[in-house]
Amino acid sequence: MIFTDDTIASLSFVAALADTVPEASESGVDELSTPQQLAAVLDAWWYTGRRDGDAAEVAEVAAARDRLRALWRLDRDDAVVEVNAILAEAHATPRLVRHDDLDWHVHATSQEAPLAERILVEAAMALVDVIRADSMDRLRGCEADDCAGVFVDLSKNASRRFCSTRCGNRMAARAHRARVGE
Ligand SMILES: [Zn+2]
Ligand SMILES: [Zn+2]
Repeated sequence: MIFTDDTIASLSFVAALADTVPEASESGVDELSTPQQLAAVLDAWWYTGRRDGDAAEVAEVAAARDRLRALWRLDRDDAVVEVNAILAEAHATPRLVRHDDLDWHVHATSQEAPLAERILVEAAMALVDVIRADSMDRLRGCEADDCAGVFVDLSKNASRRFCSTRCGNRMAARAHRARVGE
């Protein structure tokens, strides 16, 4: 595998968070507009640490989401600038930690730091691995023409095309209709 398990988990969380925007979400609406929706995303990914559960936190995480989505469009050198900026802004201090059922992995902020800051720093630390492995091409956009979804291509031969099976199935059905002339 090209990345370690904790990097894969971080990148997968970031992609899921990034895909809560209306143009990428399954519902077609912003799936990160209430504290309940934010909690649902965090719970789905076993996200630990401080949670305020208020509207201010939702707004901060939504802003972080926009910043993370933008990373997908950057080339490697521009991504370095943004990753370094995120780490510097948060005064990130990498350390190895072990908590809950998780083996040694890196945290670069305190578990008591604001959620949006922790999300940004965790994403930046995962991007450090992506950049060092020269694998920015693994951060891909969905090829479905009506979807702005992003994903991390972890397939062996870098061949994944869609953000979800929903998009894959929809595009397959459309190609089939085109073939049979419906
Ligand atoms: Zn942790
Ligand atoms: Zn998609």
